[in-house]
Amino acid sequence: MVIVEETPKIPTQDQEKLTEEIERLYTNLSILGWNIEACEAIAPYTLRINTLKKEKGIKILAHSYQTADIIFGVADIVGDSLALAKRATEIEEDTILLCGVDFMAETVKILNPEKNVFVPSKGRDCTLADSITGEDVRKLKEKHPGAPVVCYVNTTAEVKAESDICCTSANAQKIIESLESDTVIYLPDENMGKNLAEITGKNIITWRGYCRTHHALTTNRLEKLLKDPNVKTFAHLECRPEIIQSVDLHGGTGDMNKLAAESSNGDKILFLTEQGFIDRMKIEYPDLKFSDSHMICVSMKRNDIFSVYKIVENLTLENKIELDEEIRKKAYKAVKRMLKY
Ligand code: SF4
Repeated sequence: MVIVEETPKIPTQDQEKLTEEIERLYTNLSILGWNIEACEAIAPYTLRINTLKKEKGIKILAHSYQTADIIFGVADIVGDSLALAKRATEIEEDTILLCGVDFMAETVKILNPEKNVFVPSKGRDCTLADSITGEDVRKLKEKHPGAPVVCYVNTTAEVKAESDICCTSANAQKIIESLESDTVIYLPDENMGKNLAEITGKNIITWRGYCRTHHALTTNRLEKLLKDPNVKTFAHLECRPEIIQSVDLHGGTGDMNKLAAESSNGDKILFLTEQGFIDRMKIEYPDLKFSDSHMICVSMKRNDIFSVYKIVENLTLENKIELDEEIRKKAYKAVKRMLKY
């Protein structure tokens, strides 16, 4: 059975402001092929969200894998997990709406316990975060006593609480290299753990977790994406080791963003990561030529402009992130330690 959700009703708005909003949206989104009618359809919502968030003191944080209408229509801060976690500590507003998956909102709450953190809708899963529990980490520690535990930011608060230090794809290498021990427990991404073992030369004990979006990229699929030999290839560390070994560069989306900022007009780049990030790059760097990865995270795409509108209009308790204070404090130590890198 197909359940069709009703488009939320919206109060009538000033026509002049609406026209300006349509133009603003079209300037950015037409780069991705949006037509004027599509921009007209969402403009009443983005305009209303932008008005309400100011009135209610809400800051909207969006991960780069969100859709372009959220990123360019209503987000105040856009970035990867590390950038969002860091910027969340600088926000003056009492209320944060995190557009991403649940563990990201938990990370914001870990760092900002006094703030009210909301998500457009709960249950935005992540195959990595959902692959491991705090109990699993405790068992791993018992099996490998003395080995420090580095957890990827894509984990629940409970898993972070059992870890010594948290990391992102941007600082994982630096953090692992900074540890005295030659044996490190890295979880939950097995691909990333294997890639980091190769890069750092350390003995890395991994966990069998995968990002379904990056793990789905096989060498066969990569061959099909590589139509132009002059394209620079840059793969996310969550990709399989054979992909990492066959590309020009590897790292996180923060590194990818840096490459785009430093590239010259006309440069051709294929970022092997979620398509939402590539769409963002196409709008922010219109003089570069980005190939599509066609890698879609279905969990990220479950947020849309209508769910953002509904929560900004009505901040319901069911969309609020709450954490057990003892777990939050323990997780805070691991996240706080990461922020130095
Ligand atoms: S892209 Fe992968 S790691 Fe990121 S939220 Fe989606 S499933 Fe999780």
